[in-house]
Amino acid sequence: MSGCFTWIKADPMGIRIVPADAWVDPSRPVERALITHGHADHARGGHGRTVATSETLAIMAVRYGVTEGAQVAEYHEPVAIGGGVTATFLPAGHVLGSAQILLQHAGERVIITGDYKRSLDPTCAPFAVTPCDLFITEATFGLPVFRHPPIRDEIAKLLAAREAHPARCVLVGAYALGKAQRVIAELRAAGWDQPVYLHGAMETMCRLYQDLGVELGDLRPVAGVPKASLAGAIVICPPSALNDRWSRRLPDPLTGMASGWMRVRQRVRQRGVELPLVISDHADWDELTATITDVNPAETWITHGREEALLRWCELHQRKARALALTGYEDEDD
Ligand SMILES: [Zn+2]
Ligand SMILES: [Zn+2]
Repeated sequence: MSGCFTWIKADPMGIRIVPADAWVDPSRPVERALITHGHADHARGGHGRTVATSETLAIMAVRYGVTEGAQVAEYHEPVAIGGGVTATFLPAGHVLGSAQILLQHAGERVIITGDYKRSLDPTCAPFAVTPCDLFITEATFGLPVFRHPPIRDEIAKLLAAREAHPARCVLVGAYALGKAQRVIAELRAAGWDQPVYLHGAMETMCRLYQDLGVELGDLRPVAGVPKASLAGAIVICPPSALNDRWSRRLPDPLTGMASGWMRVRQRVRQRGVELPLVISDHADWDELTATITDVNPAETWITHGREEALLRWCELHQRKARALALTGYEDEDD
């Protein structure tokens, strides 16, 4: 079906579903919002009604105090959102509770991916490939230079660095929602069964993941633990804490950072990171192009990152595509 999708509008503040008078991940408070996942650049408080998965709503309640007007959309269960539009939330594989949103109206199927990845993540449900007419995809790592290595290789690097420096502790900077829990779960999968120590800013979200059934093993606050007993320990902190005064409580920390941007040497230098770990919760170039091929939409809209190269790729492959200019999406979650 080759419709013209006039009922979907790309506005700088988000994607607007015209007949339902609703928005997806709007950057300002609106009457009706559909939220793909809990990262701050997608989930904002202050909406009249917020439709999201139960996990995303739990995350929003903890992070932003959003509780009023919350409406649960379970994965794969269509929700009527008004104006003859149904919305079905499908797993996006990005962080716990993250969803692509399938919108159906007037015989047309539109998917908005939110952020997503294809590689498996033990902390969330895997991306569900779903046919549609219009595919609105993120493009955070939309350049051929971005190829994320298998996470087990990066975790092996982390464990080897620890092994090589027994008197130090390994301090890993990771975003508090998603990345931190994925790193911990992958450490467990690699056989690391000792406690993982947490900066105070990571505790609430890790606890919530555990409450929602994600196994993370023995997690302990680093606060109050004597410096000497942290030799050989693994500590997870927010990226902002890597080089601040807080880290002086640790024994000669070997600083690591888990991010897709660690592919870029300049970013490694900026962060002053000794142990760059290329771990991303976004699709890399190969995943972006493979996903467009797998979903095989009549038309692709590209947003939220480096649109140009992916647009060019679509043109080279005779795929109808356009780049959107949405604002307000930062890399909270790379
Ligand atoms: Zn994002
Ligand atoms: Zn995100």
